[in-house]
Amino acid sequence: MSLKNQVVIITGASSGIGEATAILLAKQGAKLVLVARRTERLKELTNQVTGLGAEAIHLSTDITQNHEVQKMVSTTIEHFGKVDVLINNAGIMPLSMVDKIHLDEWVRMVNVNITGLMYGVAAVLPSMIQQQNGHIVNVSSVAGRKLFPGGAVYCGTKFFVSAFSEGLRMELSPRHNIRITCIEPGAVTTELLNTITDEDVLNMLAGMKENFDFLEAEDIAESILYALSQPNRVNISELLITPRTQG
Ligand code: NDP
Repeated sequence: MSLKNQVVIITGASSGIGEATAILLAKQGAKLVLVARRTERLKELTNQVTGLGAEAIHLSTDITQNHEVQKMVSTTIEHFGKVDVLINNAGIMPLSMVDKIHLDEWVRMVNVNITGLMYGVAAVLPSMIQQQNGHIVNVSSVAGRKLFPGGAVYCGTKFFVSAFSEGLRMELSPRHNIRITCIEPGAVTTELLNTITDEDVLNMLAGMKENFDFLEAEDIAESILYALSQPNRVNISELLITPRTQG
């Protein structure tokens, strides 16, 4: 399926996987709505993708605020007339050992990775149901399949994303022609580790890059493109993408 003129909202587009996905989809002729909080980054990316020939707007949006997410969708429909694809990619990962009780970070992770993602789904569903067409891509993680020390809450949020995606797929795909894809990356070189404040976890992770090569954000963008490009009869439900050398 061609992505030409498909209207695609990408949350977390200001860096990492979201940014790489925006650039890749721009090359396919998609019309892009680039969403995050760091407006300067979004402006630069908008210039970059329009330089590639794509139509794009950026919307400074905090996905933990439902009214901002609703506005993200209504502005998209005002500007482009429809939403074909929502890529729910924004996320944070302030890993910490539970005995440190970083309650603020636990709550922020739930707010962004779970609540913000649900706001996105709730905001696009009415128009996707009305048009009986759409595709929602949720970015979960390998952490949505297995636990590791420091990841009790982060993994919990990503287990939610994987479970929610399957629930959405079962109900929405057959009845409303809305496809649902859950993307589960292993370790990827992005800014995600910058959200970690727990020194013990940082020390634990310090050697990780010496043990195996991280993926590049572009690798995950390619997986998202693969899921989006399938013919309408195909729903790519889940893709687990890990570095070959990550155990
Ligand atoms: P980055 O830190 O590079 O990107 C995270 C993005 O989320 C940024 O664009 C950030 O933008 C956005 N974001 C964070 N909080 C909010 C918010 N409240 N409202 C709107 N946007 C927000 O990391 P990645 O690219 O790696 O992360 C993308 C997704 O991939 C996440 O869901 C992450 O959990 C997942 N993932 C990443 C892996 C990795 O190893 N990197 C592995 C597995 C999954 P801004 O700060 O400008 O708002």
